[in-house]
Amino acid sequence: MLSGSDDMRDIFPTFYKKFKCIANRCEDSCCKDWDIDLDSETERFYNTVQGALGDKIRSKAVTDEYGERVFRTENGRCPFWNDDMLCDIFIGIGEEHLSQTCANFPRVRVEYGGFRENILSFACPEAARLMLAENDAYRDFGGETELDAADEDDDYLSFLIKARERTVGFLLNREEPFAYRLADCLEFNAQVQSLLNGEEPSPLSLENAEADGCGFIFDMHLDFEIMSPQWRSALEKTAAQADTLSISRDFELDFEKFALYYVYRYYLEAVRSDDVLYSIKRIVCAYLVTGKMDAAFAEEGYPYPRMRILQRYSKEVEHSYENTEKLNSEFDADDRFSVESLIALLEQLQ
Ligand code: SF4
Repeated sequence: MLSGSDDMRDIFPTFYKKFKCIANRCEDSCCKDWDIDLDSETERFYNTVQGALGDKIRSKAVTDEYGERVFRTENGRCPFWNDDMLCDIFIGIGEEHLSQTCANFPRVRVEYGGFRENILSFACPEAARLMLAENDAYRDFGGETELDAADEDDDYLSFLIKARERTVGFLLNREEPFAYRLADCLEFNAQVQSLLNGEEPSPLSLENAEADGCGFIFDMHLDFEIMSPQWRSALEKTAAQADTLSISRDFELDFEKFALYYVYRYYLEAVRSDDVLYSIKRIVCAYLVTGKMDAAFAEEGYPYPRMRILQRYSKEVEHSYENTEKLNSEFDADDRFSVESLIALLEQLQ
């Protein structure tokens, strides 16, 4: 799906325009657990609001540790999320005066040379449901669509778009178990990374690569900043039996959609970071944690539906700047996250 002006094309997956917020019917609202970013234009307007609501808005706007203006959560809730699970700002002064963060979520827009990618976030349960229900959602996204729209002289971006399509091809290779597909993605992107580094790609030395289970990945996730006690408890239970749980084929079909979302959302960050392996390694971690958690939930008859495992992973890990940075720095510092070691670990799963 395409739209936009002649010089900048907007590109959408098929599910994008079907999204509608379900507000107080939402099982894990974006008004829960997160501080809310306040953009300066919205805050300027809020400073003119009269009466009790204006006073409350001004009293709740604070500067966070990163220097950003936010509404802090109170007991895990936005201070304007009322007992009916509706927004007092929306009710009091109208939808048009929500902050950009509130108005846009779960829509994410990223601009590249010649086009803008528009996607939904998996951290929203309703968006996650749409993404899990849709097949072939990215048929007009990426690949030739973006190569046609990309600035002609941007060879680096074109190279990354092509590399991403090859990566997607590996992820969709249903002749292989998903763990092998991820191993193929790692191997291919190790070659891509060599090229980005200006080096000659060379074969990986996999013969001596070793792995000793996935416990270290769970330990790392348990060390992260965790918002929800239920998420911590599910992680702890899964971690205790992680190496004995088998990820089901049925889960792989859903995870394939999460992996596509992730690769379309993050792979092209390499335009700025010059690193394609971070996004692939983060998908490997997500696969192991959510796949093993799904197996643990299956044994308990799914206390939460599978969608919530993937959605909550997105909310707890993917959407946390701090947790994502910790993942990336562990990838740099710990040999167990080398491409060779992760491939050995993935091959152990089969
Ligand atoms: S998480 Fe999604 S569906 Fe739920 S309240 Fe937020 S935007 Fe609406």
